[in-house]
Amino acid sequence: KPHSSRKRLPVIPPGVEEPVFLDALEELRKHLGADNVERNDKPLKDGWYMEHPNTHDMMAIVDDEELVPSAIVYPGSTEEVQQVVLWANRHKIPIFPISMGRNFGYGGAAPRVRGSVVIDLGKRMNKILDISPEDCTCLIEPGVSYFALYNEIKARGYEHLWIDVPDVGGGSVLGNAVDRGVGYTPYGDHWACHSGLEVVLPTGEVIRTGMGALPGNNTWQTFPYGFGPYSDGIFSQSNFGIVTKMGMALMPNPGGYESFMYTFPNEDDLPDLIEIIRPLRISNILENVAQLRHITQTLASRGKPRSAYYTGSGIIPEEAIHAAAAATPVGDCTWIYYGMAYGPPHIRQYKLSIIDAEFKRVAGARRIDPSTLPPDEDFWARDRVAAGVPDIQELRWVNWMPNGAHIAFSPVSPIRGADATRLFALAKRRHDEFGIDIFPVFCVGLREMHLIVEIVFDRADPARRRAALDCLRCMIDDAAAYGYGEYRTHLVLMDQVAGTYNWNDGALMKFNEKLKDALDPNGILAPGRCGIWPKRYRNRGWEM
Ligand code: FAD
Repeated sequence: KPHSSRKRLPVIPPGVEEPVFLDALEELRKHLGADNVERNDKPLKDGWYMEHPNTHDMMAIVDDEELVPSAIVYPGSTEEVQQVVLWANRHKIPIFPISMGRNFGYGGAAPRVRGSVVIDLGKRMNKILDISPEDCTCLIEPGVSYFALYNEIKARGYEHLWIDVPDVGGGSVLGNAVDRGVGYTPYGDHWACHSGLEVVLPTGEVIRTGMGALPGNNTWQTFPYGFGPYSDGIFSQSNFGIVTKMGMALMPNPGGYESFMYTFPNEDDLPDLIEIIRPLRISNILENVAQLRHITQTLASRGKPRSAYYTGSGIIPEEAIHAAAAATPVGDCTWIYYGMAYGPPHIRQYKLSIIDAEFKRVAGARRIDPSTLPPDEDFWARDRVAAGVPDIQELRWVNWMPNGAHIAFSPVSPIRGADATRLFALAKRRHDEFGIDIFPVFCVGLREMHLIVEIVFDRADPARRRAALDCLRCMIDDAAAYGYGEYRTHLVLMDQVAGTYNWNDGALMKFNEKLKDALDPNGILAPGRCGIWPKRYRNRGWEM
């Protein structure tokens, strides 16, 4: 996307005069080295997923300049992270840590408060500190991507170890887990699979959680709890600390795997299908965080823009979608279930035969024979991802619109037909109102599901950005009125989403604010992240 060629105005932290800020940066350069402190004063460049910027949100939903850091710093060690934190406290400068900054759909590398100093941990702190082939665990720094961990496991010849990956593999294993991201093997709940953190607190002290607090232990990555309160939770989706190391469970190679794909003809097959999925998923016959996708997204995943199927304005008509789907190797349908069975053939066969009988209770259900699908079909990307192989083919659906960017509505519900129907209807109604094509996918966890509705928009068109944001805001409120909450959200929606978790007069947020004020008295660490504002900012017009 082209950016304005006008010279940018200098970005400085709120409440700090520019000369004072420049002096403070000089001071930081003495600690970190001149190359490791950069001002954000050059023209913004979007790049692409694998060469993403850390100067702004490449998929901006608001004006590019609204969520920009004043500077970016690159610490090389936990000690250097401490130095940055102490520096921020001395000068009352807000800082915002990222691991790799590929948090697309949720704000990318951008900070919540304009003018914060982004701490890009991943550039220099990117070591795989340990891989234990016996315990099937690893210990990593923030800059370790899924690709890097996967390649290292292969390079060491550990064929018995798998990793779990999200749809796209360029992100940080640690950053994704602390934002409670998901992948698609049985180890898809990344936060649940971590064990042990090292954290720099907002006042500069370092702690290790769980067994890591016991000197000489050899159980940091195998027993997550240690003794006493389980503190890890407060360091995910928060602004209470900077995570500098994390342990993670690795999945044992299951000894074989087989992807499968079923299609279902009608939109109103949804409730019956979800009712069929629930008991299969809870009893682990359906073993992975699978996806039930709408045909529009599968069509978009072929990589062609919407204009290849429809050149009119407004929402793409259903007939155009179905006509296009009918011409693909998958054929016409409305819902597609992508799953995987794990284990040697006789184990897989047992589960697959139950799944087949159950899914075929939906009239018109078809099992697609993978041998009929060409190598670039979406099915094979799903196959790689569910087998823990990092991939980037999923990026294709972002090309649905010119200058494609995306932002997600992602409410959590039980695995029930009535909930799926209500949420889908709610999303559809709002998409119709705002003239947006709908891309829903149900990601089914063990006892709940995330409905992820990606809004793909033209980020060079302010009116379409506005429509996407307004649509999302309406859906969040509509969903909350029914009792559904988001599992994760974009920076600009964090106040709204946090505000929906308001039982008992906002008791949970009051608790979070108490923690924030105790742990971060100067309010320097990621103010506003997840709707948690420190005292210095609270109720002073920062919320949006
Ligand atoms: P970062 O951007 O580094 O971190 C995310 C956030 O966590 C940061 O903004 C920061 O606030 C906080 N944080 C990071 N590191 C630290 C730290 N060390 N200490 C304290 N706080 C920290 N995501 C999924 O989970 N599952 C998917 O299947 C998925 N599919 C996607 C498909 C597409 C096409 C695209 C474009 C994106 C998708 N995403 C998905 C979203 C996103 O790309 C991933 O979640 C990605 O892993 C997040 O970026 P990152 O790992 O670089 O994390």
